[in-house]
Amino acid sequence: MTSSPSFQSFGLSVAIIKALADKAYKVPTAIQAKAIPIVLQGKDLMAIAQTGTGKTAGFVLPILEKLGKGEPVRANHVRVLILAPSRELAVQIGENVNDYAKNLSFKSTVVYGGVKINPQMMKLRRGVDILIATPGRLLDLHRQNAVKFKQLEILVLDEADRMLDLGFIDDIDAIINVLPQQRQNLLFSATFSDDIRKLAKTLLHQPVEISVSPRNTTATLVKQWICPVDKKQKPALLAALIKNNNWQRVLVFCKTKKGADKLCRYLETKNIKAAAIHGDKSQGARSRALSDFKQQNVQVLMATDIAARGIDINQLPQVVNFDLPTVAENYIHRIGRTGRAGETGQAISLVCADEFDLLTDIEHLIKTLLKRKLINGFEPVYDVPESRLWRKPKKPKKPKKPKQKKMSIDPSTDQSFGSNSSTQNELANKQQDHKNKKCTSTDGSDGMKPPKRKFKKI
Ligand code: AMP
Repeated sequence: MTSSPSFQSFGLSVAIIKALADKAYKVPTAIQAKAIPIVLQGKDLMAIAQTGTGKTAGFVLPILEKLGKGEPVRANHVRVLILAPSRELAVQIGENVNDYAKNLSFKSTVVYGGVKINPQMMKLRRGVDILIATPGRLLDLHRQNAVKFKQLEILVLDEADRMLDLGFIDDIDAIINVLPQQRQNLLFSATFSDDIRKLAKTLLHQPVEISVSPRNTTATLVKQWICPVDKKQKPALLAALIKNNNWQRVLVFCKTKKGADKLCRYLETKNIKAAAIHGDKSQGARSRALSDFKQQNVQVLMATDIAARGIDINQLPQVVNFDLPTVAENYIHRIGRTGRAGETGQAISLVCADEFDLLTDIEHLIKTLLKRKLINGFEPVYDVPESRLWRKPKKPKKPKKPKQKKMSIDPSTDQSFGSNSSTQNELANKQQDHKNKKCTSTDGSDGMKPPKRKFKKI
């Protein structure tokens, strides 16, 4: 029988051991026993451990030990960055850090969205050894020069599978791009799907993998479809969808702040409680809107892309794109707010004829023709033509042949439900030239392949 090691056997300093004794931790848990020596050796780590198995101490204890050896932190700098997917988890990690480090003189702080940024900026002014953050707010702080990463030694992604999934990946990508390439990376999670595992490995440098629970795959299910509708009919359609389907919790994305406010007022006239969060709102109003939405005091939360970046709402079944995003990638980001962690969700986009180009960009990016559904009473006068996925342009380009009259939309690719195909064909004909141009100019590469995400090589 192998006896479990003691905390002392890892060579942790007396100050840490004393703090652990105060918490009545007698022996390390399984994940701590495996993780602590690896972190102390400075290796990258991918650790699978279920929640509640002591993984926080598994990374915080060796981090505290390592911090004792480095340079003191400079103004606005951080030495360790711990990213967590929710405010609650960030706060919890912050409390653990305080407990374990209570006999040491390191500075740590927690930053997250939904509260005033200024007090957080003040706390960062003198620099902090350990910063625990949610990704959206961290990016805001970084954009405002409140936090700098030149001194960063260690990056931790807690709940790493969630951090690398659709809802967070863009933010994580943006953060990783501003971190020094030379750093230690620690990923902790209860589950790692195969895709996330592959992505995670591009972030890690010769990682050691440890597991104290069987690997699990989280199924994510987001039903996506679009509603072709005339622009003027969009507000009424949204209200009808909410009422007829009895949606109690809907996150609605709008293009502009003004548009979001206007739509809020419109929904209120239909007795649908709505609140908006966007860059023009005060922190207090944003935080109130978000907590009202979370507590189900309002049915609809209207958001612009910028304001929605930091939010993480559990059990959010509906996302509606009232306007399509102007950047196709944001579509993925937006719909990733629902269908998280194995829950089902649906993402519905209200698409008018003007948004044909945006729709084409999205369908190209996700390599899928989105299903269409016409809603009775809201059938568009100005139809939204079917977009097509295109093939790799042939090389070298052949000289143009005389134009063929025949319509090139293949009926087998028609995904619409009861759409008026004759009107559609007419419009599709008009759009044909435009589409052809677009097909070859979007990125000049293989249009069939979605961009493969990979982190910068370390
Ligand atoms: P975590 O998985 O980090 O959220 O920890 C789950 C719970 O286990 C927390 O209440 C910790 O305080 C506790 N815990 C962590 N490590 C130990 C340990 N070595 N001995 C006893 N309790 C622990």
